[in-house]
Amino acid sequence: APAGAGQNGRRRLGVMGGTFDPIHHGHLVAASEVAALFDLDEVVFVPTGQPWQKSHSAVSPAEDRYLMTVIATASNPQFSVSRIDIDRGGKTYTTDTLRDLHSLHGDADLFFITGADALSQILSWRDAEELFALAHFIGVTRPGHDLTDDGLPKGGVSLVEVPALAISSTDCRGRVAQGDPVWYLVPDGVVRYIDKRQLYRGE
Ligand code: ATP
Ligand code: MG
Repeated sequence: APAGAGQNGRRRLGVMGGTFDPIHHGHLVAASEVAALFDLDEVVFVPTGQPWQKSHSAVSPAEDRYLMTVIATASNPQFSVSRIDIDRGGKTYTTDTLRDLHSLHGDADLFFITGADALSQILSWRDAEELFALAHFIGVTRPGHDLTDDGLPKGGVSLVEVPALAISSTDCRGRVAQGDPVWYLVPDGVVRYIDKRQLYRGE
């Protein structure tokens, strides 16, 4: 079996989808913790295109969200960033993300990592049944949200507790708009990038 392959000879690829507007330490801790617990070979962060259920609020340009995700993950050899959702354009549907990753990585089993808030919405996602055929789902704890697999297919979802970080991108944007610090909520390079590009100033 190739280096890094699991027991069945297949690579174990985590998938962390998000708007990442901006990426913060809650995302990074969740990905790192799940990578260790599930013996993943790699976690690929996938910033959304025009995001699902957020089309009515202003979302930063995809290139800014992509670059912040690259800055935040660059130093971790297990982390990578994919442009598939950004380059596809339009709203992002998780079935499209997982289908595309499946064709790109035919040798890998996919593990989709999602916070408790997003997991509870899965049943309202388009093509919910297909999702569970494409990937194993891993729901992680998030402060302020109940983590439950009620109504989700048995065996298709694992629930794991990760270190609690009460950080959200919404709160980070609000802080920048008010002139409050986001140091230590997001990686240093992301603080500097937000400042350089003057993001979130007008909210
Ligand atoms: P926003 O406030 O703009 O919705 P967010 O902080 O929720 O931003 P997203 O990009 O929407 O970040 O989330 C991407 C994924 O990361 C989702 O599955 C979400 O549940 C998960 N996630 C975000 N923040 C945390 C956190 N602090 N702990 C655990 N999971 C998180
Ligand atoms: Mg969110």
